[in-house]
Amino acid sequence: MTTQLRNLNVLISGASIAGPALALQLSRYGAHVTVVEKAPALRTGGFAVDFRGHVHRKVLQELGIWDDVHRRQTHMGTQTVVDIDGSPRVDLPSAMMSGDVEIFRGDLSAILYERTLDTVEYVFGASVATMAEDVDGVDVTFDHGAPRRFDLVVGADGLHSNTRRLAFGDESRYLRYLGYYVAGFDMPNHLGLDRTARVYSDPGRMLSIANYDGDPDRAGASFVFASEQLAYDRNDLGRQKKILAAKFADMGWETPKALDALDDADSLYFDAIAQIHIDRLSKGRVVLIGDAGYGATMGGMGTGAAVVCAYVLAGELARAHGDHRIAFAAYEAEVRDFAKGCQKIAGNAGPFLAPPTEKKIRQRDRAYRVLSSRLLAGFFKKLTERAATNIRLKDYA
Ligand SMILES: Cc1cc2nc3c(=O)[nH]c(=O)nc-3n(C[C@H](O)[C@H](O)[C@H](O)COP(=O)(O)OP(=O)(O)OC[C@H]3O[C@@H](n4cnc5c(N)ncnc54)[C@H](O)[C@@H]3O)c2cc1C
Repeated sequence: MTTQLRNLNVLISGASIAGPALALQLSRYGAHVTVVEKAPALRTGGFAVDFRGHVHRKVLQELGIWDDVHRRQTHMGTQTVVDIDGSPRVDLPSAMMSGDVEIFRGDLSAILYERTLDTVEYVFGASVATMAEDVDGVDVTFDHGAPRRFDLVVGADGLHSNTRRLAFGDESRYLRYLGYYVAGFDMPNHLGLDRTARVYSDPGRMLSIANYDGDPDRAGASFVFASEQLAYDRNDLGRQKKILAAKFADMGWETPKALDALDDADSLYFDAIAQIHIDRLSKGRVVLIGDAGYGATMGGMGTGAAVVCAYVLAGELARAHGDHRIAFAAYEAEVRDFAKGCQKIAGNAGPFLAPPTEKKIRQRDRAYRVLSSRLLAGFFKKLTERAATNIRLKDYA
């Protein structure tokens, strides 16, 4: 541990990936870090996320979690695009779909949390209610618990960030809807998948059934569908189930079985495929990181971007000995193009997963076939790594 930040008292909102990764680095520089998370405990589960290329590798090594991530990786194998009768159309090799190393979001979050338990204060089941900034700090009140004062506040609370709303204004100003929704939940592994997935698309819709962890009984269903932007309560599970069931009621393949499982599901992830576009990542003593600042819902780059940006933000704060004006400006300058590049890659996720016409589905499958051929494997790897490696990391250590 070093001591550049020993006088800095930082509040981070959000304990998923960006929050605990930043907490880990800041506490190594001696900062006092509090993480407030609205969920009652660390959130488990979630989608599998992956890391690609030398920049992600360096950051995982600097964070000291490289071995842990490999120990808990999914070892996901081939994913197969199928016809309505389940017959294979094209195989997508693991290197294409799962990067250099793939891990469940919840497992990565747990690794970061375990690493910070002794040095960081976690407050679960609470959320920032108000923030009032003056020349040398921020007074923060919470929906539960006593008010406190911090030097800096970090919004690491995801696509629908509460911190961003409080400091920068309503999310409608920053959230760009990309025309698709995504949903995911657990279902029985009745296809007997073993670290493989089957993917079926009909125009504007996709269902993927995947088994990432070798559990013989459990699989994950993911739905993607094109839609006008929908009005619904994000806390209303029943309504979200109804929307999904209606959208997929007439789709073939394994869809009826997946919808049966949806009926029984206790938890459901359901959200728009959307991106956050905001001119500045900081305002006074408040700064955004991870999906809160440059989220993209899905598309393969959000987790890598979150850990890279956590590394940079902590490093810049240490370099500036806690002077947030210098550090936040440097952080934004370092990560802006990188984060935008990752978002750009993710922008095509919806139409790629659920092309709008039969013709486009066939075109996509042809593209998959070509890109997954051995001849082009190196080219494809370079293509997907381009955004993930588009940053020159300083050696903050
Ligand atoms: C369907 C899907 C597939 C994805 N696939 C990939 C992939 O293949 N590869 C990849 O790299 N990334 C992927 N991602 C993106 C990845 O999950 C995110 O980019 C990553 O989790 C970003 O982490 P984060 O910490 O910024 O935000 P999040 O993971 O969204 O975490 C935000 C945290 O803040 C908490 N929170 C929210 N509101 C409050 C509040 N008011 N107060 C306190 N806490 C709050 C939440 O409970 C949560 O714990 C995918 C995302 C989705 C939705």
